[in-house]
Amino acid sequence: MYTVQDLAILLNHQNISSELKAIAQKVADGKRITFDDGVYLYKNAELSYLGVLANYIREKKHGDKTFFNRNFHLEPTNLCVYDCKFCSYSRLIKQKEEGWALTLDEMLDVVKKYDNEPVTEVHIVGGVLPQYDVEFYSALFTAIKKHRPELHVKALTPVEYHYIFKKAKIDYATGMKLMKDAGLESIPGGGAEIFHPEIREQIAKDKCTGEQWLAIHEEWHKLGMRSNATMLYGHIESFEHRVDHMEQLRQLQGKTGGFQTFIPLKFRNQHNQMSNVPEVSVIEDLRNYAIGRIYLDNFDHIKAYWAMISRETAQMSLSFGVDDIDGTLDDTTKIYSMAGAEEQNPAMSTQELVALIKQVGRKPIERDTLYNVVTDYTDVVFENEVKPSYYKLPVIN
Ligand code: SF4
Repeated sequence: MYTVQDLAILLNHQNISSELKAIAQKVADGKRITFDDGVYLYKNAELSYLGVLANYIREKKHGDKTFFNRNFHLEPTNLCVYDCKFCSYSRLIKQKEEGWALTLDEMLDVVKKYDNEPVTEVHIVGGVLPQYDVEFYSALFTAIKKHRPELHVKALTPVEYHYIFKKAKIDYATGMKLMKDAGLESIPGGGAEIFHPEIREQIAKDKCTGEQWLAIHEEWHKLGMRSNATMLYGHIESFEHRVDHMEQLRQLQGKTGGFQTFIPLKFRNQHNQMSNVPEVSVIEDLRNYAIGRIYLDNFDHIKAYWAMISRETAQMSLSFGVDDIDGTLDDTTKIYSMAGAEEQNPAMSTQELVALIKQVGRKPIERDTLYNVVTDYTDVVFENEVKPSYYKLPVIN
């Protein structure tokens, strides 16, 4: 992994351009980089340069700590009234024989399956259907909290919230307060895609706009609650669109401080209407994590979904700004596998997650949804544990 010494080498390196040196100096001084700096990095910076800067920030914030949680997904339906071009998961209502739509009792049965498991979070996300309205989700959240009060309910995105509040003819502030009172505890980062209308209109027409996505998070933060933010990258967007997306997140975070984690989501091209668009390389994935870490100076955490990018890339990402690799999942999500992710049945035991993190020289920390430490596994040795085999990544060339 890259070190503070590498940053000093970089600042004095003769092969680094003056523009890149100036950006590195800002990072070393703890100063914010600009929109133009962000675009410059995407267009000009090599992976090793970005790794030095991103890892410097990551280690300043968290040292070697690498977070994960024990969670499962509850996906109420894969039927959806929308038709996002990149989506491999949803089936339109007219194709409903290919989908599922759980009842309230069936959803509670999924939760009850975990009654004897030490999970701390249920992550609820799926398609948008008219029968899942404000009353339905309020009843679901209340029932989950009644059944298992300590289980954190992280649920839905502004895509669902915008739809159900509009249907109920209530504003965002009223709606989010209703959800909180029903038992909702945090909002995941989904539905953000790319905020810029030039791209959003093409890939996610009709669902909530970027402005509406941000407005719903803002109302949620005003209630003193926390949420995450994603960015779907590597399809038809330009680097300017990516930086614009992060800029809007940075500005809202400056206002509310309610975001915990930024999660770049790689566009996968199987089984969707954009299969003609090639996927970006692993190098671009790592560059993107690193630039996210550098740009979003007011976000505490950068997360990589191991189930989406593979275990090996998740390990590498820990040297490029990432400090969180999500959770055990227990094969409860179809979102990544249906889009062509390598992990077709995503599930990892705690022991496997701990080993994966230790193998690259980091400290595994089990967290709850709000980043309170549940267990520090740094010195925990499991039976039959494979010895860590850590190799230092190359420095500037
Ligand atoms: S991305 Fe979400 S809103 Fe869009 S079609 Fe898929 S499930 Fe529906």
